Amino acid sequence: MEYRRLAEAFYRIESTTKRIAMTDYLSDLIRQTPPDLIGKVVYLIQGKLYPDFVGIEIGMAEKLAVRSVSIATELSIEEISEDLGRTGDIGDTAFQELQKAAPEVREPLLVSDVYSMLDTIAKTAGPGSVEAKVNMLAELLKRATPLEAKYIARTVTRKLRLGVADMTILDALAIVYGGGRQSRPIIERAYNITSDLGMVAEGLAEGGLEAVKKFHVTVGKPIRPMLAERLKTPEEIMARTGGECVAEYKYDGERVQIHKRGSEVTLFSRRIENITKQYPDVVELAKATIRADTAIIEAEIVALDPETGENRPFQELMRRRRKYGIEEMAKEFPALIFYFDCVYADGRDLTELSFPERRKILGQIVTTTDRARFVEFSIVDSVNALEEFFEQAVQQGTEGVICKAVGPESIYQAGSRGWLWIKYKREYRSEMADTVDLVVVGAYYGRGRRAGVYGSLLMAIYLPESDTFRTITRLGAGFTDKDLAELPKMLEEYRIESRHPRVETKERPDVWFVPGLVLEVIGAEITLSPLHTAGLNMFRSGSGLAIRFPRFTSRYRFDKAPEDATTEQEIIDMYTSRIRKVAS
Ligand code: AMP
Repeated sequence: MEYRRLAEAFYRIESTTKRIAMTDYLSDLIRQTPPDLIGKVVYLIQGKLYPDFVGIEIGMAEKLAVRSVSIATELSIEEISEDLGRTGDIGDTAFQELQKAAPEVREPLLVSDVYSMLDTIAKTAGPGSVEAKVNMLAELLKRATPLEAKYIARTVTRKLRLGVADMTILDALAIVYGGGRQSRPIIERAYNITSDLGMVAEGLAEGGLEAVKKFHVTVGKPIRPMLAERLKTPEEIMARTGGECVAEYKYDGERVQIHKRGSEVTLFSRRIENITKQYPDVVELAKATIRADTAIIEAEIVALDPETGENRPFQELMRRRRKYGIEEMAKEFPALIFYFDCVYADGRDLTELSFPERRKILGQIVTTTDRARFVEFSIVDSVNALEEFFEQAVQQGTEGVICKAVGPESIYQAGSRGWLWIKYKREYRSEMADTVDLVVVGAYYGRGRRAGVYGSLLMAIYLPESDTFRTITRLGAGFTDKDLAELPKMLEEYRIESRHPRVETKERPDVWFVPGLVLEVIGAEITLSPLHTAGLNMFRSGSGLAIRFPRFTSRYRFDKAPEDATTEQEIIDMYTSRIRKVAS
């Protein structure tokens, strides 16, 4: 398969503003791809070479890519840099500069060539590696057409930004290999227990739906976490859980999936990144306390204040997500582990067992210590008992409780948000203090004191049904000077020329972003607004819902993917419950 096909499909995907067209182009591309290449093509569509949890990234600095373009085109570095200053995009610059060079007859570039070259670039390390990478990329660009060069240059600098979500690829795979969208659940399950889209695509291409039905949980392949729904009153929770459930403290920390095989421990985040290096102390604690030879255990890790012995807030734990100074940080903010679930133990997949059965096995394979414990829990069978346990949880400084179903149906539903787990948080009790997790989709330039930085950000909620984002507010308050200075840098990797096809909005911000960065926001109230598209036409024709007086809570939710943001349904629920309260 020629790489030209991929480049042309990328161009089409990038040029459309319609999400349906995007799925069509994707399906066409998948249809044209031979089975032995489908895995690689799926990763390349997402600007990657491997699934995220493998931790191999291409990430070449733009400066180095400029040198490669210069070698490939025989133009000076200054000329290329100058052009980059104009276009602001290494892909566009590579395209333009290659177009200037006289066209020559070339051997077509194959997808397998591009992939293996990028793979070598990604894995080259050590002394002399910078020169080697520059030269390899130059060789690749010399063999590329201008359009191919555009996407190679973007991929290698991690700026492909097609914004094709996992769910869109699953849709396209279901259409091409599963006989239509109705096969989505089977394909999605295979993805949920492996987190590896390329492997799912390969399985489908080689053995059809039957092959992916046989996928099972394995140590080393992270599963996509089970998520909780939310309710606002203990009455509703008790009704939903059939009168009995296990209520557990909802710790304000970071969720971690611990994979153990012999003496080897790997940690994955809620977003399925490999975070083993960030938490050497957690690795040691897990080795010391998990007795099973092979296991996949879920836990919440919380930062501990060594002086007072109290839990520290989540923001401080997030400071441990860094590349340097990890050991010092581990001393300053040592971690506590709270174990809460087990999906695999001693060679056995436990996802089809009920929660009490899984919990029992967890109890058998873990020894607890001061720093590694089970979550606090209570079996509750009445509204009063739940209220009481909730008060206790809040007094202990947690966010509230998570209520878990205990019946035979209470299996582990990887990757899905359902009613088997229900969160009941402090905020729901006061209508002025609902925090929501919103995605940045655009920005407006600042004026006056904020000249040179963003004045406000355009924020959106998520719609799982259509896999799109709808705007709900402009966020300008709650940022420190440091936040304001850092945001343009933080958002640079998401910047695109025009509205992303997954974003539905009436606003025209100065700058657009691929939905990526998630921020926690607190608002005074939710009102009807003609300006925003969240809940559009649900309550009044032409109007949507908006958050009034939004403020950034200073919590960057790097642990959340844009698809983990607050959903439209959650906002509608918050809005209707408020109206009910006002009316009564
Ligand atoms: P949220 O991020 O608001 O959707 O809440 C769900 C998150 O709560 C999970 O992803 C975990 O990180 C966290 N959490 C804290 N304690 C528990 C617990 N006992 N069981 C499950 N999740 C928990």
